Amino acid sequence: MLISIVMEMIISPFNLKAFSIKAFFTTKPLNGNPTELFKNIGISENNIYLPIQKHTGKVMMLENDLSPVIADAVITKRKNILIGIQVADCVPMLLYDKQQGVAGAVHAGWRGTAEGILKNTIKLICDRFHSVPEDIMVAFGPSIRWCCYNVGYEVLAMVMKSTGSGDYYKKKNDIFYIDLATANKYQAISMGIPEENLWISQECTHCNPDRFYSYRYTKGPTGRQGGFIGIFQTHEGIVFERHHFADLPAGRQVFRQ
Ligand SMILES: [Zn+2]
Repeated sequence: MLISIVMEMIISPFNLKAFSIKAFFTTKPLNGNPTELFKNIGISENNIYLPIQKHTGKVMMLENDLSPVIADAVITKRKNILIGIQVADCVPMLLYDKQQGVAGAVHAGWRGTAEGILKNTIKLICDRFHSVPEDIMVAFGPSIRWCCYNVGYEVLAMVMKSTGSGDYYKKKNDIFYIDLATANKYQAISMGIPEENLWISQECTHCNPDRFYSYRYTKGPTGRQGGFIGIFQTHEGIVFERHHFADLPAGRQVFRQ
């Protein structure tokens, strides 16, 4: 008999549904007890890798050494390990090259976006693993969006420098609003990733404080949700599925064990 464990709070991006990987974004209720979550999806905490995030543009390649280092993006070909990043307004991004079997997790706030961290990540994947952009899928998890993210012109100018032109900011009553997920979408496209390879969550962390941690909403330190991806040789017992209930917003998923 199937034991169904419905965890509505996991967001499983459409474009990363492949039997050999687990890829998901967590939400607020799950952060309180990640151990339980990982146990439910069959991953030991020893097989989870999180870098030390510092809003840099630095990408690290995970091989055999699992000691945490300062980086805001991780890429790996290593199997049976879950790599992840944590956010509370910044953009969490997950990457997967289905041909070469490479996974990536990226954290980008305005500083990371200005540093071009997603572009750095795509470049490193292509340089080190002979990937081509056409094979790389990118999923963007929930982040603070246009509606809520006002910034000074100097911040916008730095993001524009790395992103170029595009429809990712607007000016309203002399205030600039920026959408970092969309800015990163432009960065991905500028690296040759086809638009159809991208999935972007439409949820704003600041507009949904019950569902997500938001640094701006709490006006200071808060918890974090995560973005996680891993390549697993077996998928025994784990199948990510589309939710069948119409009352859940698009993008919200469940998994069954
Ligand atoms: Zn909002």
